[in-house]
Amino acid sequence: MADLKSCPFCGGEAEIWEDKVFCTYVPQCKECNAQRGRYINKENAIKAWNTRKPMEAVVAELEKRANDNDRAADRLSGIESKKKITSWRARAEALRDAAEIVRGKE
Ligand SMILES: [Zn+2]
Repeated sequence: MADLKSCPFCGGEAEIWEDKVFCTYVPQCKECNAQRGRYINKENAIKAWNTRKPMEAVVAELEKRANDNDRAADRLSGIESKKKITSWRARAEALRDAAEIVRGKE
């Protein structure tokens, strides 16, 4: 079995928990209980856990997507409907709020 990386959120030790009721494997942190889905195959559970992005990467991705939405709103302002522009702005704001929440947990 491949080694599990430490938790990207708290640095804690991770484990693969075998859920015998649902016959699935759940990768999770022993410290903060962060989980990463359910897998029928144990190797896939390990792979999913080990490829989880660390918090800085998550924040960067959220900010990138927020900027993408703002750029779309800027570029298409006056071309697309007001409703669409407002929706892109709202999405950008929601993504920035999410980044703020993630950043706060670091
Ligand atoms: Zn953890």
